[in-house]
Amino acid sequence: MTALLEVADLTRAFTVRLPGGLFGRTAALKAVDGVSFEVKAGRTLGVVGESGCGKSTTAKLVLGMIPATSGSIRFEGQAVGSVHNGTWRAQRRQMQMIYQDPLAALDRRLTLAEQIGEPMAIHGLGGAKAERREKVRELMDAVGLRTDMAERYPHEISGGQRQRVVIARALSLEPKLLVCDEPVSALDVSIAAQVVNLFQDLQERLGVGYLFISHDLKVVRQVSHEVAVMYLGRIVERGAPDVLFHRPAHPYTRALVAAVPTPKRRKQRERLILTGDPPSPVDVPRGCAFHPRCPFAIKVCGEVTPQLQPGDDGRLVACHVVHGEMKAAA
Ligand code: SF4
Ligand code: MG
Repeated sequence: MTALLEVADLTRAFTVRLPGGLFGRTAALKAVDGVSFEVKAGRTLGVVGESGCGKSTTAKLVLGMIPATSGSIRFEGQAVGSVHNGTWRAQRRQMQMIYQDPLAALDRRLTLAEQIGEPMAIHGLGGAKAERREKVRELMDAVGLRTDMAERYPHEISGGQRQRVVIARALSLEPKLLVCDEPVSALDVSIAAQVVNLFQDLQERLGVGYLFISHDLKVVRQVSHEVAVMYLGRIVERGAPDVLFHRPAHPYTRALVAAVPTPKRRKQRERLILTGDPPSPVDVPRGCAFHPRCPFAIKVCGEVTPQLQPGDDGRLVACHVVHGEMKAAA
């Protein structure tokens, strides 16, 4: 299957001023550190991790909203430009972003029809006004909004309906990739479930690919064809959702999975509780960044950064202990 988006060894460092730095001491914060993945056409890569792990920065990098420090991002085989060059505008039309807060993404002064039609007008698409109005109706229909709501304003509709407007607007440019950053986190559970179903339904009908970022493992498991788990800027495990969530290998993935509340856990299986906050990205621990919180850490974990390597069931995992056990078993 064609890779729509190919990201290789992507790194983004920020320079931050250290608190109390009398002498202007600064430090390099690697928000994203050597991240590689692909999104295939019509497929979903889910990205999970705690807040501050670099998920949103990855989204912004992919869309060329901020420049990378190093690494490459290719969309349909072409390097993704930055805001400052010509290819960016054309590429950007094919890649749209869905944010967590639909109200912030919408213009309060425009009716729903105007919001949805605006990107087409800006890009000179959708034909004459009457044609565009028809296209807006089709889009409203596609995202499950009644067309008699067209003249309403964002504050007159519910949060779930607003997110549908945002999705219709993004789809108006017929993108091939949607980058969704916590797209249902602001919604009530039942409304979130409906919007998740809409995402899946649209993918089936339109073949759009998703980079789907969420801290909600259940949602990610439902929508994703592949999942990447991020910890402090790095991907620590990547693989099929059933493999990762049913039999997580990396101690951090295991802790995330164990933390998901389930109505009845069959037996109180080994529960890994995440203790402490994630360390500050300004002061990433040496070796494996997870080692201060990891119950399995051994000496090498504090010294050498584990690299992503093939594990069982087609997964990739970055953990000294997991790879040591695999070697021992082989
Ligand atoms: Fe834990 Fe070591 Fe594996 Fe890191 S490399 S997750 S510290 S066992
Ligand atoms: Mg975020």
